[in-house]
Amino acid sequence: MVKVNPFEDTLGRLKALAKYCKEEGVRFRPEDLDVLSSPKRTLIVNFPVKFKDGSVRIINGYRVQYNDARGPTKGGLRFHPQVDIDEVKALALWMALKTAVVDIPYGGAKGGITINPKETSAEDLEKVSREFIRQIHDFVGPDKDIPAPDVYTNPQVMAWMLDEFEKIKGVKAPGMITGKPLELGGSLGRDIATSLGGAYVLKEVADVYDIGMGASVAIQGFGNAGMNFAKIVSKWGYKVVAVSDSKGGVYDADGFDVAALVAAKEKTGSVVGIGKGRKVSNEELLLLDVDVLVPAALENQVTKENASKVRAKVVLELANGPVTHDADQVLHKNDVVVVPDILANAGGVTVSYFEWVQNLQGYYWSEEEVFARLEKKMVSAFREIHELVKRLDIDHRTAAYIIAINRIIDAEKKRGNLNQKESM
Ligand code: GLU
Repeated sequence: MVKVNPFEDTLGRLKALAKYCKEEGVRFRPEDLDVLSSPKRTLIVNFPVKFKDGSVRIINGYRVQYNDARGPTKGGLRFHPQVDIDEVKALALWMALKTAVVDIPYGGAKGGITINPKETSAEDLEKVSREFIRQIHDFVGPDKDIPAPDVYTNPQVMAWMLDEFEKIKGVKAPGMITGKPLELGGSLGRDIATSLGGAYVLKEVADVYDIGMGASVAIQGFGNAGMNFAKIVSKWGYKVVAVSDSKGGVYDADGFDVAALVAAKEKTGSVVGIGKGRKVSNEELLLLDVDVLVPAALENQVTKENASKVRAKVVLELANGPVTHDADQVLHKNDVVVVPDILANAGGVTVSYFEWVQNLQGYYWSEEEVFARLEKKMVSAFREIHELVKRLDIDHRTAAYIIAINRIIDAEKKRGNLNQKESM
């Protein structure tokens, strides 16, 4: 498998934008892109934690605050054995673009801890979570940088982190983290927001590209995002024909009963436990003949090695970074529509924003209100991107990047952070 550095790959994407700078409506110059070529702040911490078996381990943690021109930085924290600084930098840059695409008043950040949560007890994860906050508490806060869940972190982890932060500061500050349990100021609808936001976008894409109800969907990854997406779209009439998790996948052209997949995952630890359909590997799932492919796991799944073999009409990136820059060109040439991560999975951070607004107001909304506002944001972001796709005859990622960078650069300019030759 080709090894792609996600941060270098994204810098390549930014460089490729320079050729659109002369187009009408593109408000940045090639030299303005320099401001996005490295993060504004990078925090690396290495701290000892005494585990319950008596051993002391040194834990590595990261928090990258990539760009804060549009507001406090925002983005999740992941627990994963392969987390490294280049991955976190890429994820933080994508967050800055994502918050700009859906036009919420944030910059972008991301964090991670190099740990395998599947091999760590809840007690030890709590210690690690709390110690991480002791390490970074001066760098985060409701008006500075606001973490949230990501791969293998959840509302319980957010609760431990909030509790530790509030103890250190001696105040209640629910807006310092989002994706919290409802009891601590979480928002209704946040748990399924990433998936629902992606589903709203899929509905728009299906309209534009004539993908009918009953279309087939393959989903790679059955965590929070993939599982809830399967539940939502199957209820809407799509046919979920393939799913996978880290242990493998299953395919059945007639479609699966999603409730049975959820039950199998709970009972046996994997969707494969459903005992129905044909077994497929995670790699095979990407190449199935389906209408919609939804990578909902990790980065670098569709690369230049397998892109030409993708048969889906639409690739909806519920994961961050599943398709590389090289692969994008191949898919575009083959008329595969890629709905980029910074739009497709922006429902999560959008409802995180609603959660933070509710925390600051101390006034909480109904689930109906959250979903109505989410739908409005997702639909208008898609339509704006799609307009630009048609006008410049470009792919959706390029259009989304242009719109996001326009907004970030406008903010940088107003702050006086960029060289400006033109008069005001
Ligand atoms: N981790 C999610 C993402 O990648 C959510 C971030 C947030 O809610 O701040 O978009």
